[in-house]
Amino acid sequence: MITINFKGRKNLYDYGELCECCFECSVCSLHCVIQNREGYGGRKTFVYDLFSSEAPQIHEALWACSGCHKCAEVCPQEVDPLKVIVSLQEQSFEEGDAPSYVYDLVSLVLETGMAFPVTKKTIKDRDKLGLPPPEAKGIDEVKRIADLTGLEKN
Ligand code: SF4
Ligand code: SF4
Repeated sequence: MITINFKGRKNLYDYGELCECCFECSVCSLHCVIQNREGYGGRKTFVYDLFSSEAPQIHEALWACSGCHKCAEVCPQEVDPLKVIVSLQEQSFEEGDAPSYVYDLVSLVLETGMAFPVTKKTIKDRDKLGLPPPEAKGIDEVKRIADLTGLEKN
Protein backbone atom coordinates (compact mmCIF):
# COMPACT_ATOMS: atom_id res chain seq x y z
CA MET A 1 0.00 0.00 0.00
CA ILE A 2 1.27 3.47 -0.84
CA THR A 3 0.89 6.09 1.88
CA ILE A 4 1.10 9.65 0.65
CA ASN A 5 2.24 12.24 3.16
CA PHE A 6 0.07 15.17 2.12
CA LYS A 7 1.92 17.69 4.28
CA GLY A 8 5.14 16.91 2.43
CA ARG A 9 3.38 17.05 -0.94
CA LYS A 10 1.71 20.35 -0.06
CA ASN A 11 5.10 21.77 0.91
CA LEU A 12 6.40 20.97 -2.54
CA TYR A 13 3.79 23.17 -4.15
CA ASP A 14 3.63 25.84 -1.43
CA TYR A 15 7.35 26.49 -1.66
CA GLY A 16 7.92 25.83 -5.33
CA GLU A 17 4.79 25.74 -7.46
CA LEU A 18 7.04 25.58 -10.53
CA CYS A 19 8.10 22.06 -9.60
CA GLU A 20 4.97 21.05 -11.52
CA CYS A 21 6.83 22.28 -14.64
CA CYS A 22 9.69 19.82 -14.19
CA PHE A 23 9.69 17.64 -17.31
CA GLU A 24 12.55 15.39 -16.16
CA CYS A 25 15.03 16.69 -18.71
CA SER A 26 18.02 15.77 -16.47
CA VAL A 27 19.88 19.03 -17.05
CA CYS A 28 20.09 19.69 -13.30
CA SER A 29 21.65 16.26 -12.80
CA LEU A 30 24.71 17.25 -14.84
CA HIS A 31 25.92 19.36 -11.92
CA CYS A 32 24.30 17.72 -8.90
CA VAL A 33 26.62 15.88 -6.50
CA ILE A 34 23.76 13.62 -5.38
CA GLN A 35 23.69 12.05 -8.85
CA ASN A 36 26.83 10.12 -7.85
CA ARG A 37 24.81 8.13 -5.34
CA GLU A 38 23.72 4.63 -6.18
CA GLY A 39 20.40 4.47 -8.00
CA TYR A 40 20.76 7.77 -9.85
CA GLY A 41 22.01 8.33 -13.38
CA GLY A 42 20.81 8.84 -16.93
CA ARG A 43 17.24 10.12 -16.75
CA LYS A 44 16.81 9.20 -13.09
CA THR A 45 17.55 12.50 -11.41
CA PHE A 46 17.57 13.18 -7.69
CA VAL A 47 15.40 16.26 -8.18
CA TYR A 48 12.69 14.44 -10.09
CA ASP A 49 12.88 11.51 -7.68
CA LEU A 50 12.29 13.94 -4.80
CA PHE A 51 9.41 15.70 -6.58
CA SER A 52 7.67 12.39 -7.25
CA SER A 53 8.25 10.95 -3.77
CA GLU A 54 5.23 10.14 -1.60
CA ALA A 55 6.97 11.61 1.45
CA PRO A 56 9.58 14.06 0.14
CA GLN A 57 10.43 15.47 3.57
CA ILE A 58 11.86 12.10 4.63
CA HIS A 59 13.52 11.29 1.27
CA GLU A 60 16.73 9.40 2.01
CA ALA A 61 18.93 11.86 0.05
CA LEU A 62 17.25 15.09 1.23
CA TRP A 63 20.16 16.04 3.49
CA ALA A 64 22.81 15.12 0.91
CA CYS A 65 22.09 18.37 -0.97
CA SER A 66 25.09 20.69 -0.74
CA GLY A 67 23.02 23.79 -1.46
CA CYS A 68 25.22 24.62 -4.46
CA HIS A 69 22.32 26.28 -6.40
CA LYS A 70 23.44 24.66 -9.67
CA CYS A 71 20.07 22.99 -10.28
CA ALA A 72 18.30 26.36 -9.98
CA GLU A 73 20.81 28.07 -12.27
CA VAL A 74 20.61 25.61 -15.16
CA CYS A 75 16.97 24.54 -15.17
CA PRO A 76 15.31 25.54 -18.48
CA GLN A 77 11.90 25.56 -16.77
CA GLU A 78 12.97 27.98 -14.03
CA VAL A 79 12.15 25.43 -11.37
CA ASP A 80 14.01 26.28 -8.16
CA PRO A 81 14.62 22.84 -6.66
CA LEU A 82 16.84 24.17 -3.88
CA LYS A 83 14.04 26.39 -2.53
CA VAL A 84 11.83 23.31 -2.24
CA ILE A 85 14.63 21.23 -0.75
CA VAL A 86 15.32 23.81 1.96
CA SER A 87 11.64 23.99 2.93
CA LEU A 88 11.47 20.21 3.13
CA GLN A 89 14.62 20.17 5.27
CA GLU A 90 13.02 22.72 7.60
CA GLN A 91 9.95 20.53 7.96
CA SER A 92 12.08 17.44 8.46
CA PHE A 93 14.11 19.25 11.15
CA GLU A 94 11.07 20.56 13.00
CA GLU A 95 9.37 17.18 13.03
CA GLY A 96 12.46 15.36 14.30
CA ASP A 97 13.02 13.45 11.05
CA ALA A 98 16.43 14.92 10.18
CA PRO A 99 19.50 12.72 10.60
CA SER A 100 21.06 12.86 14.09
CA TYR A 101 24.21 14.54 12.79
CA VAL A 102 22.14 17.60 11.84
CA TYR A 103 20.88 18.05 15.43
CA ASP A 104 24.39 17.38 16.75
CA LEU A 105 25.78 20.07 14.47
CA VAL A 106 23.15 22.60 15.57
CA SER A 107 23.90 21.84 19.25
CA LEU A 108 27.61 22.26 18.58
CA VAL A 109 27.11 25.66 16.95
CA LEU A 110 24.81 26.82 19.77
CA GLU A 111 27.24 25.66 22.45
CA THR A 112 30.55 26.72 20.93
CA GLY A 113 29.78 29.10 18.06
CA MET A 114 31.76 26.74 15.82
CA ALA A 115 30.59 24.29 13.16
CA PHE A 116 33.36 21.77 13.87
CA PRO A 117 34.58 20.12 17.07
CA VAL A 118 37.89 21.35 18.44
CA THR A 119 39.90 18.19 19.12
CA LYS A 120 43.38 17.71 20.57
CA LYS A 121 44.56 17.14 16.98
CA THR A 122 43.06 20.47 15.88
CA ILE A 123 44.98 22.25 18.64
CA LYS A 124 48.20 20.32 17.85
CA ASP A 125 47.96 21.02 14.10
CA ARG A 126 47.37 24.71 14.72
CA ASP A 127 50.24 24.81 17.17
CA LYS A 128 52.56 23.37 14.47
CA LEU A 129 51.52 26.27 12.25
CA GLY A 130 52.15 28.75 15.04
CA LEU A 131 48.43 29.40 15.52
CA PRO A 132 46.66 29.66 18.89
CA PRO A 133 43.81 27.25 19.80
CA PRO A 134 40.50 28.34 18.20
CA GLU A 135 38.44 30.50 20.51
CA ALA A 136 34.66 30.41 20.78
CA LYS A 137 33.37 33.79 19.66
CA GLY A 138 29.95 35.33 19.14
CA ILE A 139 28.00 32.68 21.11
CA ASP A 140 25.63 35.35 22.46
CA GLU A 141 24.84 36.46 18.90
CA VAL A 142 24.35 32.86 17.76
CA LYS A 143 21.98 32.21 20.66
CA ARG A 144 20.04 35.39 19.91
CA ILE A 145 19.65 34.38 16.25
CA ALA A 146 18.56 30.89 17.34
CA ASP A 147 16.05 32.42 19.73
CA LEU A 148 14.62 34.88 17.18
CA THR A 149 14.35 32.24 14.44
CA GLY A 150 12.94 29.56 16.75
CA LEU A 151 15.90 27.29 16.00
CA GLU A 152 16.78 26.58 19.63
CA LYS A 153 13.16 25.70 20.50
CA ASN A 154 12.92 23.37 17.52
S1 SF4 B 1 16.55 20.86 -15.00
FE1 SF4 B 1 14.55 21.54 -14.26
S2 SF4 B 1 13.04 20.61 -15.64
FE2 SF4 B 1 14.99 19.52 -15.93
S3 SF4 B 1 14.86 17.74 -14.52
FE3 SF4 B 1 15.90 19.42 -13.41
S4 SF4 B 1 14.27 20.50 -12.30
FE4 SF4 B 1 13.28 19.24 -13.89
S1 SF4 C 1 21.50 22.54 -4.84
FE1 SF4 C 1 21.35 20.39 -4.13
S2 SF4 C 1 19.92 19.41 -5.58
FE2 SF4 C 1 20.64 21.32 -6.53
S3 SF4 C 1 22.41 20.72 -7.79
FE3 SF4 C 1 23.20 21.38 -5.80
S4 SF4 C 1 23.36 19.48 -4.60
FE4 SF4 C 1 22.01 19.04 -6.36
